[in-house]
Amino acid sequence: MKSQNNLGNTIEAGQLAAVIEEFAPIFTQEEWDNSGFSVGGANRRVKKGLIALNCTLEVVKEAVEKNCDIIITHHPLIVHTPLMNILDGDLRSEAVALAIKNDITIYSSHTPLDKAIGGLNTIMAQKMGIKKPKELVKGGFGAYGKLPKSLTGKELIAEVKKVFNVKNIRCSKPLATKISILAVSSGGGQGSISDALNVGAQALITGDVTHHRFYTPDGFMVIDIGHHESEWSATTLLESLIKRKFPEFSLQISKSDLSPICYF
Ligand SMILES: [Zn+2]
Repeated sequence: MKSQNNLGNTIEAGQLAAVIEEFAPIFTQEEWDNSGFSVGGANRRVKKGLIALNCTLEVVKEAVEKNCDIIITHHPLIVHTPLMNILDGDLRSEAVALAIKNDITIYSSHTPLDKAIGGLNTIMAQKMGIKKPKELVKGGFGAYGKLPKSLTGKELIAEVKKVFNVKNIRCSKPLATKISILAVSSGGGQGSISDALNVGAQALITGDVTHHRFYTPDGFMVIDIGHHESEWSATTLLESLIKRKFPEFSLQISKSDLSPICYF
């Protein structure tokens, strides 16, 4: 590690990444994922960080306004669809261009943060009172375990709304029978419904559930709290990981990163 003399309160971006990767190793990322640095790099010296769930153009603008020189997010700026050109008028291109123009480094921990022990799925399960969540899908996605108290579908819905601070949820027909084993999957986890059934769960909480997946078998229900809502805890998790190691590093959570979905 280089001496920080004459460099003020700056730190190497790679040191921040190392703290996150110690908790959520980068090699655990899915093949299609693009966690890690997407703009700038590990050798950049940074002094102020902005944490968000998504690296949107609004978030980059917020970083510029707040003089932040590193953005740390859960969702990578460039993932799924390759960025073939950087053109005006395209939101993702403009986010990249604005970050480069302002010497902002961008780092993301996506699937590693989902899968880590103590990561997003563990947090979701623990929020619901599950003491020792187990892995739902081999490889680390999702979690499940026993609720502290069995709940009917409607009781579970009320609890979920309170715990995740959501006004609206979408779900399949609320079970009249008691739910004791609950599964969770952060983000878009409807692909885990069969895994939830296999482990004997009576309900799955996730986001991004599409029409057909609401046709659930008897004795099972699916609850969609929203992708954003199910993963917002990534921000406080990333903040606490960094603060634990670098308590002096200036860090804040984005105010502009809101769910893109509006409910009326
Ligand atoms: Zn996500």
